[in-house]
Amino acid sequence: MPVINGISKPAGVRCVQLDEQDRCKLFGRPERPAVCGSLKPDPDMCGSSREQAMRWLGATEALTAPAC
Ligand code: SF4
Repeated sequence: MPVINGISKPAGVRCVQLDEQDRCKLFGRPERPAVCGSLKPDPDMCGSSREQAMRWLGATEALTAPAC
């Protein structure tokens, strides 16, 4: 399994650090991977609803998925 900047999971797999409300259990803690803290939100990424954000995320995952 690839490990990129402290995250060890395949694309499309839910992070084990998410709680039941989809909140990061490591937020604000030093062990949170640096790549997570470096991600800056953008209106194009977040949209105006959770559904828009999830569509953007899904499209980004599809565009960056390794070729099979
Ligand atoms: S911010 Fe990083 S560690 Fe936290 S849930 Fe998201 S991917 Fe996982």
